[in-house]
Amino acid sequence: MADTWYPVVDYENCTGCLTCVEFCPHGVFEVENDKPKVVRPKNCVEFCRGCQKICDQEAISYAGSSAEKAKA
Ligand code: SF4
Ligand code: SF4
Repeated sequence: MADTWYPVVDYENCTGCLTCVEFCPHGVFEVENDKPKVVRPKNCVEFCRGCQKICDQEAISYAGSSAEKAKA
């Protein structure tokens, strides 16, 4: 489980297909206003990119990815 690695949804690109919500086995997302919301970021598995890979809108990025860490 990760403290600093969790998905961030780009709501500009997200179509609300909810594939990511159904895909994640760790309950990181819940649905709010027909869009995925990250409600349990600490459940996300560090360096898992499962939901990013299945999002056909490329609407998921990660807090704690190398680009973010480089800034810290
Ligand atoms: S898979 Fe992508 S487009 Fe579909 S709900 Fe999740 S973030 Fe949005
Ligand atoms: S990266 Fe993996 S563990 Fe984290 S929310 Fe996506 S599918 Fe779930």
